[in-house]
Amino acid sequence: MPEGDVLRLTAARLDAALRGAVLVRAELRWGGLGDIDLTGREVAEVVAYGKNLLVRTTDGWTVHAHLRMEGRWYVARTGSPEAEGRAPRVRAVLASARWTALGENLGMLNVVRSRDERRLLGHLGPDVLADALDVRAAALRLRDAGDGPGVSVSEALLDQRRVAGIGTIYAAESLFARRTDPWRTVGTLDADELAALLLTARRDMTVAVMHGLEARESRVHGRLGRPCVRCRTAIAVRQARRPPEERPIFFCPRCQAPQPGVSRSV
Ligand SMILES: [Zn+2]
Repeated sequence: MPEGDVLRLTAARLDAALRGAVLVRAELRWGGLGDIDLTGREVAEVVAYGKNLLVRTTDGWTVHAHLRMEGRWYVARTGSPEAEGRAPRVRAVLASARWTALGENLGMLNVVRSRDERRLLGHLGPDVLADALDVRAAALRLRDAGDGPGVSVSEALLDQRRVAGIGTIYAAESLFARRTDPWRTVGTLDADELAALLLTARRDMTVAVMHGLEARESRVHGRLGRPCVRCRTAIAVRQARRPPEERPIFFCPRCQAPQPGVSRSV
């Protein structure tokens, strides 16, 4: 599933293609959205919030998309064969005279007045990549929001209602970097520890946003059975959350061992 860094990169690409341009073609192939005509409107900006993408027009409309598991956006030159977007997997087409943005396999698509974006995003925690992130407040929200402090720290990191933008890769990598047992309950971590986890994820995601996804360095995610880069113990994996929402979290059983007397949620 795309995480906040992918959304940032996607938003930057779409923003470069569409900002300031008038839409000459706008097709939203989604439920009741087919009748909404955005052609003739000017794109003000394209931004990301957590795992959400927002295309805003200068006259106050917002197209909201969520990529879920398989979704992606790409940009093609208007008039080129790639820009036609006839395939059923293409659910959104937004084109200027020059560039066409196509969204395929999207998990969600909405159109709202920009002033009503909160109706779509109001349940989310702060974006971990926000310029003005209040780390202290985000750490407390990471501990207490959603289903409260009794869930595992890995599950809390994945819960977009607490903090938005982190998925399985950055949850696992930041827990590994901080040598934190992924299965201890989030309420057993103090605000400094939680802030350090968030700042670690934010730093790693920022590297990917600045230097591209190739710059992502996986020290634990996806390394099942391979030796830990620190202690050579075989990396393990376990599911955070319950079916059908389970998500794999990779960890080192030794570097991230449970601490005696610290409560866990497994
Ligand atoms: Zn280790």
